[in-house]
Amino acid sequence: MAFQKPTGTQDLLPGVVERWQFVEDKARDICRRFNYREIRTPLFEQTSLFVRGVGETTDIVEKEMYTFEDKSGRSMTLRPEGTAGVVRSYVENKLYGEPDVSKLYYIGPMFRYERPQAGRQRQFHQFGIEALGSVDPAIDAEAISLGYQFCIDLGLKGVKVEVNSVGTPAVRAAYREKLLQFLTPMKDSLCKDCQSRMERNPLRVLDCKVDQDKFTDAPSILDSLDEECETHFNQVKAYLTEMNVDYDVNPRLVRGLDYYTHTAFEYKAAGIGAIDTVGGGGRYNGLVADVGGPDQPGIGLAIGLERIQLILENQEVDVEAYKPIDVYFVALGEAAEKEITKQLYLLRQAGFVAERDYLGRKMKAQMKSADRMQARFTAILGDDELSRGEIALKSMESGEQKTVKLTDLAKELK
Ligand code: ATP
Ligand code: MG
Repeated sequence: MAFQKPTGTQDLLPGVVERWQFVEDKARDICRRFNYREIRTPLFEQTSLFVRGVGETTDIVEKEMYTFEDKSGRSMTLRPEGTAGVVRSYVENKLYGEPDVSKLYYIGPMFRYERPQAGRQRQFHQFGIEALGSVDPAIDAEAISLGYQFCIDLGLKGVKVEVNSVGTPAVRAAYREKLLQFLTPMKDSLCKDCQSRMERNPLRVLDCKVDQDKFTDAPSILDSLDEECETHFNQVKAYLTEMNVDYDVNPRLVRGLDYYTHTAFEYKAAGIGAIDTVGGGGRYNGLVADVGGPDQPGIGLAIGLERIQLILENQEVDVEAYKPIDVYFVALGEAAEKEITKQLYLLRQAGFVAERDYLGRKMKAQMKSADRMQARFTAILGDDELSRGEIALKSMESGEQKTVKLTDLAKELK
């Protein structure tokens, strides 16, 4: 029996991988314009970083982590999300000592042990940003607008932003009591996960994937905000309005991670099935201190790239999946073989996309191969042309053929 890929993973083959590169290019491009710089952190970290950073009562830490013991008996975990590692690096490398706000981004694989379905994998990919060192609500609005504009740049339609304030830990403690009063009478009707969430972290119940309708009349956390939280939230909303970012306030939006304070937000796209959240983020003013750093604030977001791929497909967004080649060389005879080996290399050095046959095929089969690669030109070299220092250049679009000097080949292709 041949080997198979692990459950919940994907091979991204040529033809599809170009669609991923398209998305990654857009991510890098928008980060450049918003002045976020790339950071690359390890794919695994000490387990305790995620337990601390993500939160003990989260789904991630409770049941989704890929944890293993290394050969010296240390507990390691494949990163389930990007923020904890970035914050660890920010602290370890003392980036907080720099004069400007640390504006960072990452693109890469994350690992969660989950039941695979469309848009849910065990190895999946996120594009995310983190801005560390500022409490200015303008940077909340910047983060939200970056994710929003990313979707627009990709050509996606109907992406909605939902925003909320989840307050400070003190605000949440007060709200927790009100929420429990609302939830307790309906406890038996809640799903099993939510019944246990109710004990450990009742806010998380509002994030239930099974039955959202039950919570339409739940008390709103917005009624529990103190003045500082309310002012911050109002400023974020005012900036978003100013920027013309299309958002809705959703007072039941809590996030799956424990570290958020103040602003929380999500991007939703209609028509990708049951799971409609593409990404989200929020402010995390306690996190840097929680993982042993100074008391520095932060805000970040993460967007799931498998889900972006799903929407691109469903909305039939035009993604240039295959880039044609410039020229395909066909050699007729041994001396010509030698010459095209050199010409191929010269053209590649000069920046052209060039290819040849490596299977010893007949001319007709080589021309078919050039067709499959959508070559703009074929360059055909026989002994006659070679003796005159020339080569036949055929436009695959018009069928027109002319003989050009070998030394002029690059000029002609331009
Ligand atoms: P969900 O509610 O769908 O489980 P989450 O709250 O666990 O999402 P986050 O931790 O906020 O998700 O991650 C941000 C984004 O990363 C999600 O909106 C989603 O697009 C993507 N994502 C999360 N888990 C997976 C996964 N297992 N497979 C693919 N994408 C994922
Ligand atoms: Mg999840």
